[in-house]
Amino acid sequence: MSQLTVGKDVLSYCTKCKLNLGHTIVAMKDVKHIAKVKCNTCGTIQSFKDASVSSKQNKTRTKKTTMKPSKIISVSDLWMEKMSSTKKKSTPYAMDQKFVQGDILDHLKFGPGIVEKVVDDKIEVIFRHEIKTLVHNKKM
Ligand SMILES: [Zn+2]
Repeated sequence: MSQLTVGKDVLSYCTKCKLNLGHTIVAMKDVKHIAKVKCNTCGTIQSFKDASVSSKQNKTRTKKTTMKPSKIISVSDLWMEKMSSTKKKSTPYAMDQKFVQGDILDHLKFGPGIVEKVVDDKIEVIFRHEIKTLVHNKKM
């Protein structure tokens, strides 16, 4: 249910408060791993320490359901993964523009997307919230 993204709250061990406290994610290592968190109590930004792993006393031990790797990859996970693994510059989307697989485009309505598949005059593009089929290479 909970998806790890910047701005979400997680339970992490605060090295300053010396307690497992609610922290806000400020940076992600990748889609499943948190890099940096900010303590909601003292405001310190530090590396994420999984409270359920580093704590020696097992009171407030949350069953590891939050960290369970899920097999279901959402569109936004896929989008984030693809966008972070490319160094290409984005091109503004236009119907007469020709795109190839892996191209990054900027759509006026849907925002940045990555070309997943090219089929003749159509391209399948992964956007942040949905996968869309668009027209490209159209003779005007
Ligand atoms: Zn703290």
